[in-house]
Amino acid sequence: MIDSHAHLTGPELVKEADAIVLRATRAGVTHIVNICTDASSLKEGIVLQTRFPNIVYNAAATTPHDVENEGDSFFPIVEEAAETGQLVAIGETGLDYFYKYSPPQIQKHFLSLYMQLAQKIPLPLIFHCREAFADLFAAADREYKSPKAILHCFTGTKEEAQGVLDRGWLLSLSGILTFKKSEALREIARYVPLNHLLIETDAPYLAPQKWRGQQNEPAYLDETAQCLAKVKGITVEEVKEQTAQNARLFFGF
Ligand SMILES: [Zn+2]
Repeated sequence: MIDSHAHLTGPELVKEADAIVLRATRAGVTHIVNICTDASSLKEGIVLQTRFPNIVYNAAATTPHDVENEGDSFFPIVEEAAETGQLVAIGETGLDYFYKYSPPQIQKHFLSLYMQLAQKIPLPLIFHCREAFADLFAAADREYKSPKAILHCFTGTKEEAQGVLDRGWLLSLSGILTFKKSEALREIARYVPLNHLLIETDAPYLAPQKWRGQQNEPAYLDETAQCLAKVKGITVEEVKEQTAQNARLFFGF
């Protein structure tokens, strides 16, 4: 299994990151994409990668929530890490109009900068999008004409899922898939072809149903894989194999 999105070196998990990676490998997770959202998590991420080469890989960008305060200072650091081959992707970047912690205009500005950076290197992109698909699709259609993107932690509508597929991007499903009330998301998971799906924990957030409300970690990815297998009516081995293959192709592991 490959965890396509976890925050191992954010403030919540960084102190026990080594133990978390070991528990993940024992649970059958072969690779983890560590999402670094500021200078400190990226610095720790690069160190963690040297301790767990071929298991931990890093992606970096300021989240849409934090771009107002941290966007300017972190961008050159991401740029340098990308240029020196320390990242497998740029992200998570995107738009979040649900929380609107940063003004949409500033979110769009940094989305645009990160799309340009991803194409310049080139590296694939990891998008975060909540209640902002029309603007995300419009921006990407203008400035990012590439199939190399993941819509992480997808929770949109079927039409929005189709918009992701139309652009050749992948959808990544988190533990939200396992929540009791997520019937609509499971319907979308049934609809999206398996070769366009990834699985992720988004640890430390969004622990699957069995651990709901607790701190999440990559070792819990299995429950999401099990749920996806049930939804698709296939074996969990098929889910793990195909989503891992999708991730290997996408990130170039
Ligand atoms: Zn995340």
